[in-house]
Amino acid sequence: MKLTVVGYWHGYPEKGEATSGYLLEENDFKLLIDCGSGVLSNLHSYCALTDLDGIILSHYHHDHLADIGAYQYARIINKGMDVDMKESTIYGHSDDEQAFAKLAYQNVVKSQAYQEQTSKNIGPFTFTFKKTDHPVPCYAMRIESKGKTIVYTADSSFFPELAEFANGADLLITECSGYKGDQIAEFGHMTSETAGQLAKQAKPIKLVLSHLPHKGNHEQLRQEVAKHYTGEVILASSGLTFSL
Ligand SMILES: [Zn+2]
Ligand SMILES: [Zn+2]
Repeated sequence: MKLTVVGYWHGYPEKGEATSGYLLEENDFKLLIDCGSGVLSNLHSYCALTDLDGIILSHYHHDHLADIGAYQYARIINKGMDVDMKESTIYGHSDDEQAFAKLAYQNVVKSQAYQEQTSKNIGPFTFTFKKTDHPVPCYAMRIESKGKTIVYTADSSFFPELAEFANGADLLITECSGYKGDQIAEFGHMTSETAGQLAKQAKPIKLVLSHLPHKGNHEQLRQEVAKHYTGEVILASSGLTFSL
């Protein structure tokens, strides 16, 4: 598996950057995980839009799906120009039926729902899901292929079952929306302190901090996490890639 960070900001993108988006690849299969604002523009650097096999969404907050509409327009414009493109499916939960109904678009993008209780094969990947602690239904994802595992927390405050879900991942991408002491658990987010607790319990081989706040020096986040977790702690950045 190869994973590329396309965007990593909380809420809104900084100049030239993007909110949540991660390109997951194996062989020729390309799946985008979340599609926040700025993601589609930055995705061009790593993958032709027409070459994407699909998108999987953790939840329906703007910083995770803002560019879905732009993707639908890209599909229909390219179809109108007879551009050769792969079939594409957008995967999302159907807890919010109205939001799910907006994912499929005319005859250029299909949609498929995933469920927490059922693992789902998407291309070469096997996904399992865990509902997170967030103001709207949101699902963390555990992705397995060829004996390697990536876990993506999506948006969540810390709770022990999330650590169990992430246990022993080769790569854990955790949200880290604030610094130690920030009161953000009530909004369904983790600080460097709770992200550190998550990592301490889950014991991933590599830890990536993402969904980063628009203040302070992110290096401080890394140091605060490292007080709890002794493994490698990496700050997400645009274009950062991992090969597993
Ligand atoms: Zn959210
Ligand atoms: Zn978010």
